[in-house]
Amino acid sequence: MNERISNSVPKSIAIIGGGTAGWMSAILLKSHWVNTRVILIESPDVPVIGVGEGSTPALKYFFQSLNIDEKEWMQRCNATYKVGIQFPNWSTVQGYESYFHPFFSALDSQTSTAFVKQAKKWRQGERVNVLPDNFFVAASLAKKHKAIITKKPLPIELDYGYHFDSALLGDYLKEKSIERGVIYQEATVDSVIHSDKNIDFLVLDTKQTVTAELFVDCTGFSGVLVNKALKRDFHSYSDMLFNDAAVAIQTPKVTEQLESKTISAAMSCGWRWQIPLRNRDGNGYVYSSKYLSSDEAEHELRSLLPEQGKGCHARHIKMRVGRLNEHFLGNCLAVGLSQGFIEPLEATALMLVQYTVMSYINGVENEYSAEKLNKKINDQFDSVRDYVVCHYKINSKEGKYWQDCRENNSISANLNAILQAWTSSGDFESSYKELLGDSAYAKASWYSILCGMGLSDLDIEAGTTLDSLATKALAYCEDTADLFIDQAELFASDNTQ
Ligand SMILES: Cc1cc2nc3c(=O)[nH]c(=O)nc-3n(C[C@H](O)[C@H](O)[C@H](O)COP(=O)(O)OP(=O)(O)OC[C@H]3O[C@@H](n4cnc5c(N)ncnc54)[C@H](O)[C@@H]3O)c2cc1C
Repeated sequence: MNERISNSVPKSIAIIGGGTAGWMSAILLKSHWVNTRVILIESPDVPVIGVGEGSTPALKYFFQSLNIDEKEWMQRCNATYKVGIQFPNWSTVQGYESYFHPFFSALDSQTSTAFVKQAKKWRQGERVNVLPDNFFVAASLAKKHKAIITKKPLPIELDYGYHFDSALLGDYLKEKSIERGVIYQEATVDSVIHSDKNIDFLVLDTKQTVTAELFVDCTGFSGVLVNKALKRDFHSYSDMLFNDAAVAIQTPKVTEQLESKTISAAMSCGWRWQIPLRNRDGNGYVYSSKYLSSDEAEHELRSLLPEQGKGCHARHIKMRVGRLNEHFLGNCLAVGLSQGFIEPLEATALMLVQYTVMSYINGVENEYSAEKLNKKINDQFDSVRDYVVCHYKINSKEGKYWQDCRENNSISANLNAILQAWTSSGDFESSYKELLGDSAYAKASWYSILCGMGLSDLDIEAGTTLDSLATKALAYCEDTADLFIDQAELFASDNTQ
């Protein structure tokens, strides 16, 4: 049971699937283990999912670890900088109808302390302002459409994410992977010959067979290896997260402005994303098919699009939400949509791809057991899930869907305990450390959502006017944001240095 993932670095790896997960896996594995033969096989008949255009700061470290130039890949993928996510309409608490979840940086060290102090005061019964938008530089950058590039270089490393064209990112990573020695073959896997948990070989539609020491399933929601052939257990999150469908529409740009934030606005039965790329915008509606038909969802989304986008093509997507219990077993690792998916409210899927592959590499090099590796990945998935579920659990919107989300008691024990600790005016700090010390989300993220949605069972509502601490923090954030370059201007001159 506790045997090592692998006795040595695999000499040959076959990755099946050429979506973002496949190419991210290919380049990471080949760059870490240069002497390993890595082949990626992609079906010419099964398209990639073609959505997924927002990232967390993990993507910055992905490219840095591969020594890939930011300016080059961003240009190729029509990418923009992303400093955080705005969440309008999730809460009806006065003054807290919309809040910003920032990506934090060293620039926030003073104001984030002030923010936590302010939250403590509120939880002890003082009516003070706790809207995260007033306490983090990223929120001011977003308000002013700034890129996270300063006019003069700063001596500190800043965290940020990106928006990008997912198809172009796939193409770019494919080119880089092949340059680094990944072998590429177009073919469809027809059958998987396996014993109990080990894959012996694959048979392609070309009648060729493929053997490898490690097989990586990146075949998307279908999970050709892990789901169809190996029939690994799937742990559904559908009792906690109701959304199982999305409709996506790409629209032309209608303003000169180039936002540096994603907008994730609550809708009648789910939420809508707006993602700004250099050349177009990505729009989508993630919803529950139990509450809304695909036609209704498309209609609701279209009604909010600018005139120029009204006739644009809509793509409907079904989502399998949850994760495998065993991402790695025998000689097969699942990565990407084949291993699991959490709705993209916090744009975490590529971060989980990176986390899975890096954990596998570390696991081989540090002699992990499969059990240890799977637990690490499961914990990461579950902690992202809890953060996403929190948005639904503490919503205060009207409507059957939102009421059902709020009243749904199928939430994890950890999330339940953290919400109780927050609303009981007890010691949230120590509860946080005990319950969420290993969370994928930093303490400031938990404070941002709990304060940002104005969650309190106390009589005192969060302050709506700027008190002295919030005024001071906001002034600092606004002044600091002025050091940064307007995103549209930056890309107009295309000077990312
Ligand atoms: C609505 C929605 C919005 C999303 N938004 C975000 C976001 O903002 N941020 C984020 O990080 N992620 C997001 N994601 C997730 C993101 O799209 C995926 O994680 C990412 O695209 C990786 O997909 P994949 O490579 O696993 O699968 P896919 O893109 O589906 O690729 C599957 C590949 O497998 C190949 N294949 C399938 N069957 C076979 C076979 N039999 N033989 C050979 N090859 C085969 C296909 O040809 C294809 O190349 C979103 C997902 C959805 C559904």
